[in-house]
Amino acid sequence: MAKKLIIVGGGHASLPVIKMAEKWKRYDLEIILISENPYLIYSGALPQFMGGFYEWNQTTVNLKKLCERYSVRFVESFVESISKDQSTVWTTGGERYAYDYLLINIGASTADFKDLQNAVPVKPMDELLSLRKNLKRGEIEKLLIAGGGAAGTELALNLSHPRSFTSTDITLLENNESLLSSFPAKMSDRVTQILQQRSVNVQTSKKFQPAMSKEYDAVLIAVGNRPGSLSITHDFETGAGERILTDETLRVKGEQTVFAAGDTADVNGRDYQAIGVHAVKQGVLLRHNIESLLTGGKLKRYKPYAVNPLILSDGPDNAFYVVNNFAWEGRWAAILKYVLDMNWLEKYSKKPGYRRSYIELLRDGVKRSG
Ligand SMILES: Cc1cc2nc3c(=O)[nH]c(=O)nc-3n(C[C@H](O)[C@H](O)[C@H](O)COP(=O)(O)OP(=O)(O)OC[C@H]3O[C@@H](n4cnc5c(N)ncnc54)[C@H](O)[C@@H]3O)c2cc1C
Repeated sequence: MAKKLIIVGGGHASLPVIKMAEKWKRYDLEIILISENPYLIYSGALPQFMGGFYEWNQTTVNLKKLCERYSVRFVESFVESISKDQSTVWTTGGERYAYDYLLINIGASTADFKDLQNAVPVKPMDELLSLRKNLKRGEIEKLLIAGGGAAGTELALNLSHPRSFTSTDITLLENNESLLSSFPAKMSDRVTQILQQRSVNVQTSKKFQPAMSKEYDAVLIAVGNRPGSLSITHDFETGAGERILTDETLRVKGEQTVFAAGDTADVNGRDYQAIGVHAVKQGVLLRHNIESLLTGGKLKRYKPYAVNPLILSDGPDNAFYVVNNFAWEGRWAAILKYVLDMNWLEKYSKKPGYRRSYIELLRDGVKRSG
């Protein structure tokens, strides 16, 4: 009987592994992806999607199609518990799946404000879809964005952009003294200035209280996330913030055939920032390390990039390129972001031969930014 690799959660880090399924059949391995959603929302593209600058197919990877293409069995279900002693995964529907190899990549979710009927968490990202529909229909006159970190501020920039499809009245609330408090101060000032010029009501040094929600048609909650490992029952060792603890090869501590990656994993106690850059890079390492396990090869260690540059979008024609304490702004950064976003997305959403080359992406990026 074929051995089974179960992937729990179709996050950014899982995609390179899914693409190996056809090849790994030679090792008598079957891959099953269990994901609560049939698509992955690419976080880098989401803020522009919310402003109407990216289409759905420029923001998501259709996991069902990807699995079909590479002969992976796709199960649309939420995994509620995993037992390492029984090497078994259970879904909310009561189905059980025994595994020989396991990859846990269930991301993160935003602090829960379930009692608030008009609150929409920024994570899981699919919850933003109904908000987008309501904004597009003009049903949201007053929107509160709670949290002026990278996610909340980038969403505010795109929603308030002059070419956005919504003209909703936006308030952006931040607990710290300034927006983007972990970014260069000059960039924070510049972004605040842009938002204020667009009549966004920026309120700093003010903590979100649930009672505030009454004054708004919708509240977008972007006040920070907790790892997905807290939403399931499991008996693996945990590290910082209850993330599942792995060693440097991304193998869960004490386990030989179980991996964890992305926002839900604490790699060797280093508690890396929960950003897609790590998840994406870890995906490539997982592909190598799982194959090494199958072939008796040597596992490699996770080495993050020396710096993690981040591009914060402000519509299709402007963006901020940030490296450590330095930030640059310009149309060129928006074009670069488009090229990087679409290049990554098309690797998983288009068949080989149908993807745009860097030159085509650059040409399209220049065109849309004009
Ligand atoms: C608005 C916004 C913008 C962002 N922009 C950037 C950016 O520009 N650059 C950057 O580096 N980072 C960015 N991030 C952070 C980035 O989203 C995360 O770091 C990244 O998504 C983590 O990827 P992952 O592989 O851990 O899991 P994810 O890609 O989050 O995927 C986890 C998947 O698992 C599924 N899942 C969860 N629990 C279960 C379960 N129990 N059973 C089955 N399926 C489950 C979820 O539905 C989801 O599809 C942004 C975040 C937000 C909210």
